[in-house]
Amino acid sequence: MTRQANLLDVIIVGGGPAGLNAALVLGRCRRNVLLFDDGKPRNAVSHALHGFLSRDGIPPAQLRVIAREQLAAYPSVRIDEDRVVDAARIDQIFSVTTRDGRNFLARKLLLAAGVIDKLPEQPGFRELYGIGLFHCPYCDGWEMRDQPLAVYGRGDDKGGGLALEMTHWSRDTVLCTDGPSELSADYRQRLEKNGVPVREEKIVRLEVSRNVPYQAAFDIVFDTGPRLRRAAIFFNTGRAQSTDLAARLGCDMYDPEGCKVDNDKQMTHVPGLYVAGDASRDVLQVIVAAAEGAEAAIGINNALLREDLA
Ligand SMILES: Cc1cc2nc3c(=O)[nH]c(=O)nc-3n(C[C@H](O)[C@H](O)[C@H](O)COP(=O)(O)OP(=O)(O)OC[C@H]3O[C@@H](n4cnc5c(N)ncnc54)[C@H](O)[C@@H]3O)c2cc1C
Repeated sequence: MTRQANLLDVIIVGGGPAGLNAALVLGRCRRNVLLFDDGKPRNAVSHALHGFLSRDGIPPAQLRVIAREQLAAYPSVRIDEDRVVDAARIDQIFSVTTRDGRNFLARKLLLAAGVIDKLPEQPGFRELYGIGLFHCPYCDGWEMRDQPLAVYGRGDDKGGGLALEMTHWSRDTVLCTDGPSELSADYRQRLEKNGVPVREEKIVRLEVSRNVPYQAAFDIVFDTGPRLRRAAIFFNTGRAQSTDLAARLGCDMYDPEGCKVDNDKQMTHVPGLYVAGDASRDVLQVIVAAAEGAEAAIGINNALLREDLA
């Protein structure tokens, strides 16, 4: 097979744990890799990364620094800080365009661009994000154990289910639904049985008196009724893909937030297109994202070997 001189083996979009680990494995496979990252990781507001063997409690940025230092040993991997704004698949080759108008071609494309959390819009939520506002009990539940907690969410799954789950970390958990709770009778009963009050009043704002990571103090101010003093809120209001590249390439999506992949090798139904990390909607954790990056890299290298050694 004759190849264009400028044809890369792999382009990776996203330099979080998924993209960086994929780049590491592909570098070790002597693959010619170009990784784009525009520096907006999902956990940018987080003060400590938890649940990653040997890295528990380090600042999340430190993981990315170590990863980049280690990648420097692999000369076939390059990192570019530009944002990818478009991608197309033409004659089995991926064409990628960056924000500054440059164009690159690759045999395989890995999207590891992550997701963006949708935050409640009232004043105070954004200020507390990563300090006393969290989405994941596995990431930050331990730090907030036995503290007065609120859960923000509606319905059985995103409201009632998360509130019940949080009682395992703190028995003092209140479900705040910011309007009609949309709870079934079954969930209302379970919440009552497990000592979780439900506040259905609209939330006006959070009044923050201390915004120290994991030691926050704030009042939830409702449109009627007494304020509620809490140390943390766990929320579940959904998320969105960080880019529309998967949709542009015709990738099947879970409704609404994840790309469908073959769980063995992270490949989508679009030949040559792989998705890893939070963008692919499995367990949304750093160690899982890194593992999915490794899995995608091995799938990609195997596919390239099959093509080249046929
Ligand atoms: C507040 C908070 C706390 C968390 N705490 C923990 C924790 O304690 N433990 C844990 O395991 N997980 C935690 N997480 C989850 C963790 O952040 C994610 O699971 C992890 O970052 C996913 O890695 P990723 O590589 O898929 O995506 P990301 O880390 O989000 O990286 C994606 C990268 O792609 C880049 N990008 C996106 N679009 C483009 C584009 N078009 N062109 C170029 N670059 C692009 C972004 O700038 C970003 O750098 C936390 C998340 C939040 C929000």
